Amino acid sequence: MRIDILTLFPEMFAPLKTSIIGKATENGALDIRITDIRAYSKDKHHKCDDTPFGGGAGMVMMAQPIYDAINAIDPEHKSIRIYMSPKGKTLDMATVKELAGIENAWLTLLCGHYEGVDQRVLDLCIDREISIGDYVLTGGELPAMVLTDCVARYVDGVLGSNDSVSEESFSDNTLEYPHYTRPQVFEGLEVPEVLLSGHHANIEKWRKQQSLEITKRLRPDLLED
Ligand code: SAM
Repeated sequence: MRIDILTLFPEMFAPLKTSIIGKATENGALDIRITDIRAYSKDKHHKCDDTPFGGGAGMVMMAQPIYDAINAIDPEHKSIRIYMSPKGKTLDMATVKELAGIENAWLTLLCGHYEGVDQRVLDLCIDREISIGDYVLTGGELPAMVLTDCVARYVDGVLGSNDSVSEESFSDNTLEYPHYTRPQVFEGLEVPEVLLSGHHANIEKWRKQQSLEITKRLRPDLLED
């Protein structure tokens, strides 16, 4: 999967170079490209923001550098162009799987900053807006990393063969069962006996029960579906 990220702050994306996403980039399962919008500014001081027409607080990202950056990266509009925005559809598992499931998917993620982006470049270039939740961040960089990370987990070759995405929280509208590892007793707390029994059917039954109980307690709304 190819993901282009357009930002005024490319240095914020160091986390994508580490851990699982970093390794997946090295092994070619992911192709993540960060573009500095400022490089496309036609202003002699590389200015990319200006005061809002109509007045009001803060600055607005100008249309021209974003328009030129998007059209340089994806001149034929072959990618799915997404503006990370609090006004967008809230990111959920269905959207994550939809994006990850597109064959040879190519996403272009636009990160806003300050008060946001000139509406005209959104009208001209953007296919959809995605929010990561009902709160406002200072910029779209963290949302773009959240989207990249959770979509990437469903791309072939990103997770190791032992890391299953089929049994985890939200995969079937439930939350996952609890995990335990060595030692068998920690601060007086023991690992549930069934997990030491080696009886796979009982372990599976216990995990299903735990999963349902935890979901009922913490997220009963998930079971309504
Ligand atoms: N003035 C905007 C509003 O009230 O809707 C908020 C602008 S916010 C301070 C700056 C940028 O952060 C936005 O352009 C967007 O790219 C990003 N952003 C902030 N919160 C977000 C969220 N919940 N999901 C996705 N992107 C977000």
